[in-house]
Amino acid sequence: MDILNLKIWELKTLIERKEISSVEITEKVISEIENRDKEIHSYLSVNPRAVQEAEEIDKRIARGEDTGILSGVPVAIKDNICVKGLPATCASKILENFFPPYNATVIDKIKKQGAIIIGKTNMDEFAFGSSTENSAFGPTKNPLDLQRVPGGSSGGSAAAVSANLCFAALGSDTGGSIRQPASFCGVVGLKPTYGRVSRYGLIAFASSLDQIGPITKDVRDTAIMMNVICGRDENDSTSVDVTVPDYTGFLNREVKGLKIGIPDEYFIEGTDRAVKDKIIEVVEKMEDMGMVIKKISLPHTQYGIAVYYILATAEASSNLARFDGVKYGYRTDDYTNLYQMYVNTRGEGFSKEVKRRIILGTFVLSSGYYEAYYLKAQKVRALIKKDFTEAFKEVDVIITPTTPELPFKFGEKTEPLKMYLSDIFTVNVNLAGLPAISIPAGSVGNLPVGLQIITPHFREDRLIEVASFIESYMKGA
Ligand code: GLN
Repeated sequence: MDILNLKIWELKTLIERKEISSVEITEKVISEIENRDKEIHSYLSVNPRAVQEAEEIDKRIARGEDTGILSGVPVAIKDNICVKGLPATCASKILENFFPPYNATVIDKIKKQGAIIIGKTNMDEFAFGSSTENSAFGPTKNPLDLQRVPGGSSGGSAAAVSANLCFAALGSDTGGSIRQPASFCGVVGLKPTYGRVSRYGLIAFASSLDQIGPITKDVRDTAIMMNVICGRDENDSTSVDVTVPDYTGFLNREVKGLKIGIPDEYFIEGTDRAVKDKIIEVVEKMEDMGMVIKKISLPHTQYGIAVYYILATAEASSNLARFDGVKYGYRTDDYTNLYQMYVNTRGEGFSKEVKRRIILGTFVLSSGYYEAYYLKAQKVRALIKKDFTEAFKEVDVIITPTTPELPFKFGEKTEPLKMYLSDIFTVNVNLAGLPAISIPAGSVGNLPVGLQIITPHFREDRLIEVASFIESYMKGA
C-alpha cells in the first residue's frame, strides 16, 4: 500500500491504530515533494517546521490525548492564506519577502484539529487567472498531463492533491479558482456559501466574492474539511452565524425524488462537445436512479463574465492599493521622492495581468464611468442572483459542467479575454454568493471532466449529499 494514495479518513485510521506515525507520513510527503515537485511545481515553499510539528502531534497521541479530526494529516495551503512564520507571497514579487505575523482563522481551525501545514502552494499572482501561468515564480504543471495547465488560480493546491503531494489543500475561489483547477486535475473542490468560512487572513482579491474552501481526493474528505473550517468568526464581519451540521452525516444517502435543474445556458455553443456529453451522460444516469430532471433557464447567465470582470477588478484595484512599498514586502531601490517610490515599487513588483486589472478596476470606479460600469454591473449582479432564487423554487440542485473545455495547453490562452471566458460556468455562483462543488465525472482520453453542483445558500449539506451519490455511482461506472 502506498500511504500517499490514501484519503484523509483512511490515513486517520492508521494513525489512530498507531500503525503509522505523523512523523513518518510527513517525512514521506516532504521527500516526495523533493523528488516530484521539481517538475510539477505545485509548491512555492515547504514548511521547515513540519516534521517538528508532527513530532509534537505524535507525542500527544502517545499520551492518549484527543488530537483532533485532522490529527497528523499533512495539508497544503494556497499562498494567499496567512500562516504565521511562513511566507505568503500570493505568487507576486511584491510580497516575495512577506512573512505574516498571524494565522488566518482557517489555519487556527485546522491546526486545532491536528493538521500539519506541509507548505504553501503556487497560484496565479493575487489569484488573478485560470491557469497558474500568471505566477511570478513560474507555472504549475497538470500532474495528469505535464503539457497542460492545472487550472487556476488555486492550481498549485489542486495539482498537489492530484499528485498525492498532500492529503488535502485549501484554496480560494473568487470566480472559480477552487472548482476549475479541481476539475482540471481530477479532484474535488468546494466553494462554500459567501459567509460560511471566515476570510480573516485571506489576502483579499475581491472581498464581496472571495471564499476559502477545500480541495480533496474525495467527497468524504471534503465533508471532513468543511466540518473543520466553517462557522462564524468574530474577526470577519461578513461571516455568518448559521449552525454548521456534521457534513459527514450527508454521505451515502438515498437521493430519490430530488429535483435536478439543468440550465440551458450552460450547454451552449462553444462548450466542448465531449465535456457536454459526459455531463449529460451522468445526468441521464441520475434520472435512471430516481432523480427528477428538469430543464431550467437562468436568463442572465450571459452577462456573468462582463459583470464579474467589472466588479472583481474594481474591488481588486482598491484592495491592492495597500501594496505601496511602505507597509509590506518589496520596495524599489530606484527613487528620489515618495511618489517615485510608490510608482516604481508597484511598477516593478506587479506583473502585467495585475496591472491590467488595477487599471481596469480604477477605470470602472472613476467618477466619469462609475454609473455606466460599476453601478450597472451591481444591478445586473442582482438579476443574476434573482435567476438562481427563482430556479431554486422549482429544483433542489443545479448541475452544469464546471468548465467549458478540457484542460488546455500552456500558452494557448495568452489573450486575456480568452482566458476570462474559461470562467463562464463558475463566476455567476460567486456573484450570487452560492455554494458549489466540482467533482470528477469521468474523462476524455486521460483528461478529466468536472461536474458542478450548485445549491441554495448554506445548503452545503445537500451539495455533499448529491456529490457523494454521484461519486459512488462514478466509482461503480
Ligand atoms: N479566473 C478568475 C479570475 O481570473 C477567478 C479567479 C479566482 O477565483 N480567484 O479572476
